[in-house]
Amino acid sequence: MKYKRILLKLSGEALMGDRQYGIDPVRLAEYAAEIKQIHEQGIQIAIVIGGGNIFRGLAGAANGMDRVQGDYMGMLATVINGMALQGALEDAGMLTRLQTALKIEAIAEPYIKRRAVRHLEKGRIVIFGAGTGNPYFTTDTAAVLRGVEVHADVILKGTRVDGIYDQDPEKFPDAVKFDTISFDDCLKKNLNVMDTTAFTLSLENKLPIVVFDMNKEGNLLKICQGENIGTVVNV
Ligand code: UDP
Repeated sequence: MKYKRILLKLSGEALMGDRQYGIDPVRLAEYAAEIKQIHEQGIQIAIVIGGGNIFRGLAGAANGMDRVQGDYMGMLATVINGMALQGALEDAGMLTRLQTALKIEAIAEPYIKRRAVRHLEKGRIVIFGAGTGNPYFTTDTAAVLRGVEVHADVILKGTRVDGIYDQDPEKFPDAVKFDTISFDDCLKKNLNVMDTTAFTLSLENKLPIVVFDMNKEGNLLKICQGENIGTVVNV
């Protein structure tokens, strides 16, 4: 296997499946099956999940809500998604732990780096909820931060598109996909792989990012086997 320990970032929106809001149980079970394939290969898996399918702080602020209040609501949304994913992974026979950046002791462990690493070493899948625990950040930043902290080999960012293009492939049919691209070129070409805070953190810590289509069966396993799937952002 190419990677020993990965940090998988899933957006909240991905959990909606074909719905307009919330969580699609069929999609959840599909993701659990994908994750199981790499778990069976002995890969250590940490997961950060977004909350956009339930609530985004920016959307709240646009409707006149205090931004900080909205962001905390967004963080709680990621905990709901984390619990749903935890349930789906356990139903599929994997052992998991949910650790949150905000303390919610009845349902999750508080985030403790050393403990998270120990869980990973024991083969438990660790889901990190509540983002970074701070308003004004995103779950992409949380993904890179946790990835750096637990010494993941790579950030695997599962999305709806199959990689990074020179222009938006959903708008321009002649857009060209990159197999690999450097952090520098992403900046020069103004490509939004992640928000700038997340991107900078990844760059500074030389933690590569793979952007790939999580909805294509077998992709996750293929990436871990070293196949050229999606786009790799590297130094
Ligand atoms: N959020 C936050 N701090 C964090 C991570 C998330 O305040 O460290 C809030 C923010 O309001 C964000 C929401 O949680 O809009 C949901 O996260 P995100 O938008 O990153 O989810 P995704 O787009 O991946 O579904």
